[in-house]
Amino acid sequence: MAQDPRQPDDAVDCAGVLLRLFEFVDNETEPVDRARIQAHLDECGSCLAEYDRDLLLKALVRRACARQSAPAQLRSQILTRITSTQVTVVRRTES
Ligand SMILES: [Zn+2]
Repeated sequence: MAQDPRQPDDAVDCAGVLLRLFEFVDNETEPVDRARIQAHLDECGSCLAEYDRDLLLKALVRRACARQSAPAQLRSQILTRITSTQVTVVRRTES
């Protein structure tokens, strides 16, 4: 069970960041991991570029979806999900 001293637990390499980038963009990353990824993005230009591209992609998808009028029921389902997700995040932060 010896840990590799060159890779401490709180270090995140590029592969680990890229693997979680979509979670990160969607704000679904655990707070601890979020801080690690954010720290890595501050130092790593290539991962930051990838992050920017994911953000752009997400914005484009959202715009494309907005143009097609989604069925009202689906729309309200999504809105409900977004709202309840935000409530969960707020509660987690407070406790
Ligand atoms: Zn990187």
